[in-house]
Formats: sequence, C-alpha cells, structure tokens
Amino acid sequence: MNSAACFSQTYAQARHKFLKACADLGLPVESHVHPLRGAENEELAIDVARSGSLDAEHVVLISSGCHGVEGFCGSAVQIALLRDEEFQRQAKDAGCAVVYLHAANPYGFSWLRRWTHENVDLNRNFRDFSQARAHNPDYSALHSVMIPRRWPGTLANRLHLLSQLVRFGRKRLQKAVSSGQHSHPDGLFYTGTSPTWSNDAIRTVVRQHASQCQHLVWLDIHTGLGPKGYGERIYSGPADSPMLERARRWWGEGVRSSQEGQSVSVPLSGLMVYGAAGECTPADFTALTLEFGTLPGSQVLDALRAEQWLHNNPRIGEPRRQQIKQQLRDAFYIDEPQWKDDVLRQAREVAQQAINGLNQGPIKVH
Ligand SMILES: [Zn+2]
Repeated sequence: MNSAACFSQTYAQARHKFLKACADLGLPVESHVHPLRGAENEELAIDVARSGSLDAEHVVLISSGCHGVEGFCGSAVQIALLRDEEFQRQAKDAGCAVVYLHAANPYGFSWLRRWTHENVDLNRNFRDFSQARAHNPDYSALHSVMIPRRWPGTLANRLHLLSQLVRFGRKRLQKAVSSGQHSHPDGLFYTGTSPTWSNDAIRTVVRQHASQCQHLVWLDIHTGLGPKGYGERIYSGPADSPMLERARRWWGEGVRSSQEGQSVSVPLSGLMVYGAAGECTPADFTALTLEFGTLPGSQVLDALRAEQWLHNNPRIGEPRRQQIKQQLRDAFYIDEPQWKDDVLRQAREVAQQAINGLNQGPIKVH
C-alpha cells in the first residue's frame, strides 16, 4: 500500500479522499454540516460512514480530528483502512460494524487549529456543565506567560517560563497547561462553559450508531505527544475497570493508563470518548486513544502558544500568519514518508487487534 497517498495537504483534500474511499466501497455517508466555512471557503462537516449491519452486535468506532489539525493523521488512517481489502474482509467475516467518524472538529482541521471555532479543546468539553468545576489555579498563574503580549516571547518571558518550570517540575507544568481550564476563554486547553457544536453532533452520531450494539469499541486517533512516529496506546478509563484488563489483553501490555500516570498524557477529564459513550448503553465498552509522537514537547507547546497568540491578535500580517500556521501543522503532522508508514502500520495493527479481540469475546454468538 502507498502510505503517502492516504495523507492529505488540506482538510478539503482529506475530506475528498475520505468521501471517495467510502463511495468506492459503496458506503453511504452522513454529513453533519458545520455552521462556518473552511479556510478555502469550503464546506466543513463531520462525515460518518459505516460498514456492516445496523444491528451488529459489535461496533468499532474510529474517530479522527478531535483536535482539528491532528486530523491529517487520523484521516489518513481511516482512508487506509477503507482501502484495505484485508481489513474490510476481516471486519465483515467477524460480523463487526466499523463506523468511521471523520473530522470530529472540522473547523480546527481546516483552519489549522487544535481547538474548535469556540476556541475550545473538544477533548476537555464533554463534561456535566451543571456541576461546579474545579479551578486550575496553576494555569491562571501561567496564562500571561503562556500567551504574552508580544510573540515571539521576550527574553524576560522565556526566563519567566523557565523559572515556572523549575518551580513546578515538568509533569506539574504539563498538567497545569494541558489538563484544561475554564478561566481564560482566550487561553490554551479551554474547556468551554457549554457543549460545543462538535460535542452535540458527536453525541448524535453515537446515539445513531452505537445504541443497538452489545460491545462498542472506540479508537480515537491523536498526534503531538511522545517519541516521533511511535503510537502510544493510551487507556484513559478508570483504573479498576475490566476495560483496562481487556485493553491489555487485546492491545498488549504496552497499553499505558493515563489516569495512573503511566502515559505521555496527564490524567484528563471531559474526554470526548467517555462523555459521548454515555449516549448509549452497550453491555461492554472498550476505548483506546492512539497517540502518535511528532516533535519534542517544547516545540509542540511553542507552536500552540504562537497560534493562540495569533488567534488573539487577528490583525497580524499574512507572512507571519502563514509561518505560525505552518509551525502548528508541523507540530502535529510530520509530512515525511517514514512517519506516514509508521503511523499506518501501527494503526492497522490496533484496528485488527480490536476486531480479533471482539471475535474472541464471550458474547460472540456463532
Ligand atoms: Zn489530540
């Protein structure tokens, strides 16, 4: 298989390839059209295709682009699986339906943002907004350092950040910045104060496609953390759940539990997969985040800070704008053949292991 051919250079191209791959298999696509237009004035949508019957006992849901710009990777994985005759046959033989949710955050994908058009981190937004939420005072203390008035940050800004790093330590700093905050709507990793457009649309998809099944498996594809080209298999569910044991049985002992501090990711709340899965009640639920490493963490964070600064300063000139957008894209999408090969090989293995695992499960009726 030609890995590079599954990847795209823009959201519009990725959407076109995805729709074409679905059409080639004769799969109908439901499009949840976004209220805004894309960077090329194109239509934006969450597109959903399904192979397998509507009353399948087992459903594997594969989602891309929860974090907008990270969609270059997940979209390619979906397109590769759609074009993969062996994978398609394997799923069919196992009686397993596969749902492809393309571009969970199409706005961020097209406009090269990690956030939604509401400036919200969609993977922190699936929470009960009627409940009081814990503050993140560490982020509040860091906000003006993270997003300074001028960019690139001055020497004083860099020293300030360095001193916070020494004070907090690397893990606490990562938690402060990336675990989510609701005090600064113009800041990083903002949870929002209500469900975003994508949140509502994704819940609808889950109700439509997973309400009837016995076992829902959700694979959510991300980039930007960990060693370049390595796909960490992250479990973000509760530590004392049979889901963790099942995840390790299917995907190997290398599965890292973020809630137990083993992962490249800090423990998180408001996650898309766990929030949206509440819309259906399968007897069993198994979820895995597949997180592909790109650049060193400090470069990824710098790219996010620069892009947020740009967003908060919309009158910045075009050359600068393009440079910052490219910097962000490069931080979440390695446009190199080896990285693309590595991504597709590991993602295919994880998807096949999910089908195999379901096939061996206790509820399969032969
Ligand atoms: Zn992500």
